[in-house]
Amino acid sequence: MNIIIFGPPGAGKGTQAQNIASKFHLHQVSTGDLLRNEIKKKTDIGKEIEQLISKGDFATDDVVNKLLKKVIINLNYRNRIIFDGYPRNITQAENLEIMLNSDNQSINFILSLKVTREIIEKRILGRVTCEKCNKTLNEYLNKEEIENHECGKNYLIKREDDNQETIITRYDEYMQKTKPVLDFYSSRSYFYEIDGSQKIHVITNKIEQILKV
Ligand code: AMP
Repeated sequence: MNIIIFGPPGAGKGTQAQNIASKFHLHQVSTGDLLRNEIKKKTDIGKEIEQLISKGDFATDDVVNKLLKKVIINLNYRNRIIFDGYPRNITQAENLEIMLNSDNQSINFILSLKVTREIIEKRILGRVTCEKCNKTLNEYLNKEEIENHECGKNYLIKREDDNQETIITRYDEYMQKTKPVLDFYSSRSYFYEIDGSQKIHVITNKIEQILKV
């Protein structure tokens, strides 16, 4: 099955995608991670998008679609993809269908995490991610887990775009460009809205129930 996990920045898409990927043996594709990786490796794409991302603006559709195409045609991931952070606008949503259809694949579940803006801010401003295992924790909510993190505290880093100023741009981008994608999808029988303000394991259980139907 292929799944899209949808929601505003800080909704918990990455955390849930990781949990679900490991439970159902899926491959998590985070376009944010793919793009950050290009920046880290200082590739041509990385140099092109670095400024955009640090300000909270979107990377261009052309760049993102190219990165996605490579994943979709990879036989190892065939019908086992969980898309996290893609599609982020209508053009990308249309393009995703074209890319999947031309490879005889489809979307089987669309999971939309609903959270308030207040929660989003708290989650983003407290977010730290382990450079080694990619686990995400929150400085306000997971103090003990951070102290005892198995890779060591030093690997936990803050994302450059997780700051008060950039949150505003990212949220505006979401409202203007990404939210219309919900209307594009919401009438489909495999579209599910989930309360993303609940505890992580409660949301994961809810998603598991949906996927097992
Ligand atoms: P994320 O890790 O999903 O929060 O994404 C971090 C940043 O990467 C976003 O604020 C955008 O600048 C960029 N980005 C991620 N996914 C996309 C996408 N599908 N289209 C355009 N830009 C993206």
